[in-house]
Amino acid sequence: MVQTSDLKASKLFSVQDYVCIVTGGGSGIGLMAAQALAANGAKVYIIGRRLEALEKAARSHEPDQGAIIPLACDVTKKEDLTKLYEEISKKEKYINLLICAAGISGTKVEPNEESASKMKEKLWKEETFEQWNETYNTDVTSVYFTTVAFLPLLQAGSESHGHLSASVIVISSMSGIMRHAQGHFSYNAAKGGTVQLTKLMSAEFQKLKIRVNSIAPGYFPSEMTTQSSGEDQKSELPDETVQAKGHVPAQRAGSDEEMAQAVLFLTKNAYVNGEIIAVDGGVLNVVAGK
Ligand code: NDP
Repeated sequence: MVQTSDLKASKLFSVQDYVCIVTGGGSGIGLMAAQALAANGAKVYIIGRRLEALEKAARSHEPDQGAIIPLACDVTKKEDLTKLYEEISKKEKYINLLICAAGISGTKVEPNEESASKMKEKLWKEETFEQWNETYNTDVTSVYFTTVAFLPLLQAGSESHGHLSASVIVISSMSGIMRHAQGHFSYNAAKGGTVQLTKLMSAEFQKLKIRVNSIAPGYFPSEMTTQSSGEDQKSELPDETVQAKGHVPAQRAGSDEEMAQAVLFLTKNAYVNGEIIAVDGGVLNVVAGK
């Protein structure tokens, strides 16, 4: 029988002995997720293209338990993903969690013209098929191939830690749910794809005992949202910048703690599968969605 003491937060959300991979773990939301997992006992491999940024992140946020280990890989390249899989499978018998947070924002072009010919001229000239493809490639296709690459180690994770315990968390976005282009049609369309991909993978991979869920964040401080980060790879997103958007009921960006809570919830609750959890300060309450 479950004792009251079994329901302590420290037990419910412990990831002691978990092995995790976080793509995009060198900055922003991926780094928040990596810190949250390491702080609760996990060994976390952080993945990105810039090894130096990953090393800075690992050095600056060394946990008192767990570990943060940098590994370079471009998740849009099959040969890089193959090497990454080989490298990790030499060291680990399983992984318990894959977080796909690597992403790019694509071209920004505000569709704010009142005449059709001006709207056409602006969108036609300032966007390209290549830029649309690049955004889709990183934000959707790479999530698919990264997950596919790690299926055997994930299945081994569920075999070791319990039925459907191993999972994938895809970082999609509130932008993939809303009917507002936010000045970047290609990103929001790609993120809509990320949301749908999560549902498809969840349904198809549960027979392998692997869960797939998604966090759809609102505004969080990152290199993507602030164009910079400090020596510790962390970014600052001031309240006024978020308030200026005019559609954020919380009137501020999301915090590291709030992202950490969402990550630990989906990591440890093995009864949740196929969900898209918005952590958006209420934006989807005021911007049309679905
Ligand atoms: P960041 O730019 O800080 O993080 C993105 C990370 O992805 C970088 O560390 C980058 O590292 C890595 N990355 C990009 N392309 C590749 C690639 N081809 N291979 C490997 N790594 C790659 O931004 P965020 O933290 O904001 O973004 C994380 C995710 O969160 C994205 O999917 C984004 O769309 C999503 N998101 C963010 C929101 C926010 O407000 N911050 C809101 C909603 C969703 P490197 O350049 O070294 O490869």
